[in-house]
Amino acid sequence: MSKIEMKTPLVEMDGDEMTRIMWKMIKDDLILPYVDLKSEYYDLGLKNRNDTDDQVTVDSANATKKYGVAVKCATITPNAARVEEYDLKKMWKSPNGTIRAMLDGTVFRAPIIVKGIEPYVRNWTKPITIARHAYGDLYKNTEMKIPGPGKVELVYTPADGGEEQRALVHEFKGAGVAQGMHNLDDSITGFARSCFNYALDTKQDIWFAAKDTISKIYDHRFKDIFAEIFEAEYKDRFAEAGIEYFYTLIDDAVARVMRSEGGFIWACKNYDGDVMSDMVSTAFGSLAMMTSVLVSPHGYWEYEAAHGTVQRHYYKHLKGEPTSTNSVATIFAWSGALRKRGELDGTPELIEFANKLEKATIDTIESGKMTGDLARITTLPNPTQLGTEEFILAIAENLEA
Ligand code: NAP
Ligand code: MG
Repeated sequence: MSKIEMKTPLVEMDGDEMTRIMWKMIKDDLILPYVDLKSEYYDLGLKNRNDTDDQVTVDSANATKKYGVAVKCATITPNAARVEEYDLKKMWKSPNGTIRAMLDGTVFRAPIIVKGIEPYVRNWTKPITIARHAYGDLYKNTEMKIPGPGKVELVYTPADGGEEQRALVHEFKGAGVAQGMHNLDDSITGFARSCFNYALDTKQDIWFAAKDTISKIYDHRFKDIFAEIFEAEYKDRFAEAGIEYFYTLIDDAVARVMRSEGGFIWACKNYDGDVMSDMVSTAFGSLAMMTSVLVSPHGYWEYEAAHGTVQRHYYKHLKGEPTSTNSVATIFAWSGALRKRGELDGTPELIEFANKLEKATIDTIESGKMTGDLARITTLPNPTQLGTEEFILAIAENLEA
């Protein structure tokens, strides 16, 4: 059988630890036998990031701007322990942070749904995709401990020497705390566009929620920007695609999400997204079944698993002990990137292959063959727990058939 041709390369970002081990298995057993893979390879493993003074991360993001599609393996974000473990020159920044800042994107996280892994919320029969705005608010705030009586104000000094604006935060009668937060029209606009683009791409409704009744200027600005961008650029395309944009208050959104059957994108402000993505991913069963895609408003797509490098399993692997690490989210990162490549290049064989790879993966689990994390929570009777590579080979067998 001849292999599927690719017209344009995709950017391949290799990573660390157990996910790096699985990366090679996925390529060797599931991709390379079927696809004449064209990829521009960047080694984002921590050693190479250190050797290149992290230039490789920047290069990989620039390559993503050039080719439009990337697939990324999980990578270590160094902390003090890692600086010692890898003898690092410095505590390099999170590659995801660097790439996100360069592509100016929004991260969408969606669970992979299979029979036998039932969500804790019974009525969630379809995936709920969370989009988190990853700029500003609480995460770029300025805080102050207020020691005693006195006045706290917000002061805006225009750069062009115009008139100063002041607003009283609080007239303190005793000790307390205060904080200042900000966001940018540009960032909110980019977020809105990424959300609307992804809704069109995946043909799902999109919900957005804030607390505009209480925060009449700050949160209201988010609501207004979403409404303006939607009216001006997306309304007709949404109608054509048969999908909806829906705005409501955050507390009403939470109530509706709990009652829903899923099948939509939930766009969240930064803090809401931080909190709700953990709730939603836990409720769907396993972090190892959560995909993640960075969508840039400029039309770049970077696919990855939502989980990390699974360090604990890697140390077992290094000691020669058997592991049963779940490769599903990493496989779906590959299928997502290949499908997007196929869509952009107009190569239906590649799209079809991506669909088949995903189906083979889901069928494998639904036939009772799965890794330990799923075997522990499945409702299927007598599941067979497979090792890391055994599971990938079981998928390969299905794919072959
Ligand atoms: P993690 O790698 O997500 O793993 C945490 C635990 O979740 C694992 O120990 C394992 O539980 C379970 N788990 C996660 N993925 C799994 C999978 N595919 N199959 C089976 N079980 C899985 O998080 P971490 O241990 O906190 O972080 C490890 C490294 O990953 C850190 O250096 C961090 O910086 C990095 N990280 C990278 C990314 C990214 O690149 N996007 C994201 C998050 C973290 P058990 O041990 O109980 O089996
Ligand atoms: Mg969180």
